Amino acid sequence: KMTSGEWTGTMNLTEPQCGTDLGMVRTKAVPNGDGSYSITGQKIWISAGEHDFADNIIHTVLARVEGAVPGIKGLSLFVVPKFLVNEDGSLGERNTLECAGLEHKMGIHGNATAVMQYDGAKGWLIGEEGRGMNNMFVVMNEARLGTGLQGLAIGTAAYQAAVEFAKDRLQGRSLTGPKNPDGPADPIIVHPDVRRMLLEARAFVEGGQAFILWTALQADLEKSEDEAAATKAKDYMGLLTPVLKAYLTDKGFHAASLAMQVHGGSGYTEHFPASQYLRDARITMIYEGTNGIQALDLVGRKLPAAGGRAIMSWFGDIDAFVSENNGNEAVKPFIDGLADAKKKLQDGTMWLMQNGMANPDNAGAASTDYLNIFGLTALAYVWAQMAIAAQKQIDAGSTDPFYATKLQTGRYFVERILPDAAAHLVKLKTGADVLMAMPADAF
Ligand SMILES: Cc1cc2nc3c(=O)[nH]c(=O)nc-3n(C[C@H](O)[C@H](O)[C@H](O)COP(=O)(O)OP(=O)(O)OC[C@H]3O[C@@H](n4cnc5c(N)ncnc54)[C@H](O)[C@@H]3O)c2cc1C
Repeated sequence: KMTSGEWTGTMNLTEPQCGTDLGMVRTKAVPNGDGSYSITGQKIWISAGEHDFADNIIHTVLARVEGAVPGIKGLSLFVVPKFLVNEDGSLGERNTLECAGLEHKMGIHGNATAVMQYDGAKGWLIGEEGRGMNNMFVVMNEARLGTGLQGLAIGTAAYQAAVEFAKDRLQGRSLTGPKNPDGPADPIIVHPDVRRMLLEARAFVEGGQAFILWTALQADLEKSEDEAAATKAKDYMGLLTPVLKAYLTDKGFHAASLAMQVHGGSGYTEHFPASQYLRDARITMIYEGTNGIQALDLVGRKLPAAGGRAIMSWFGDIDAFVSENNGNEAVKPFIDGLADAKKKLQDGTMWLMQNGMANPDNAGAASTDYLNIFGLTALAYVWAQMAIAAQKQIDAGSTDPFYATKLQTGRYFVERILPDAAAHLVKLKTGADVLMAMPADAF
């Protein structure tokens, strides 16, 4: 009933005293002796925690079985339905849980963010006791990919609204002479700075879409019967999930902000959709693990996993792709840009290996810049693939403007977005001292 959408589900991790640091969860579970547990505690900010769109809501709740060890290792995962379900599948009595309040939020007003109170509610263990976080991560890894997609999708809609506005709004004259001489002014799309904003958003959106599709391909390859291919795809999913979540949501919000700027004052009013996109995009950088935590996950867990096997495959694949396409003069800037970004990523990885172990604050200080170089390299990789495909069509005689536009958009990425990797590498290498030298009470 959940997969058909008849019932909906929630994830209950967060409590008032803990969001990132879930080892402090206090919600407790007491065995009832019949295989079920009594769940008691308060969860906050639970998305779609309460509503009447579906007949039942199935809550997954992270709780500590009475007497279990403190910290993450003492947590277990429970399924706790809003309505108990009878043997024949029909709905039974109301479980002892309730929505104690709804949050007033900046955005995503279509989703009720609920305070959930569990008072001895009946729940059933999912998997084994003490494996709650591992089991929750099955959902969370997928949710992180979904959140990355959400950031990208909002950025895409915002970009489309901005294009419409930029073609419509008449202000000023083109610096090179009127383009709409019969009108009172030219449409703002003639101005280079407006085009900068539109292309910045567009080059990200199209690169992000290709990156999502490439990642979806890896998710399929995980199920391959070829064991080596399946292992590599699994490694990539682990390595790239934090990159996809954080990079696409940071830049999705950036695209929404650019789209608002293109709208001028109209974007700040509610007459146009730009302000809603901006508000809705902002949460994607926070929930499902803040983007700062994604960066720490990348450098602390995903890079060193299995002796760095995933990152070595990533470098190997990019090297092979670059050598294979090195002679392709028509797309040379794309191949050179990718090779250069990969070199910077490798340089940053080496720096982390040399300095992160000696002082863990160095790894923490470098993590967000490192993730940005990773995101830029991933987009450079898919942009190079798109450029090759587009060029092939043009060489074969296609006059479909789609391909020429693809190359023009990609050119913006290579010339005006990809160079950011150099600045991120410089910042990454400054290490922790510049951040940690100031005493906390001096802030
Ligand atoms: C609209 C909305 C919907 C939500 N939906 C759900 C839901 O359905 N289910 C659910 O369980 N939760 C949900 N949440 C909670 C959300 O996942 C948390 O807000 C998020 O994980 C961050 O936790 P926090 O708010 O406690 O921030 P904190 O953990 O207090 O973090 C505050 C800041 O400190 C940083 N920080 C914290 N620890 C570290 C560290 N070790 N190193 C570096 N930086 C650190 C963070 O990156 C952040 O910038 C939702 C929240 C909102 C606002």
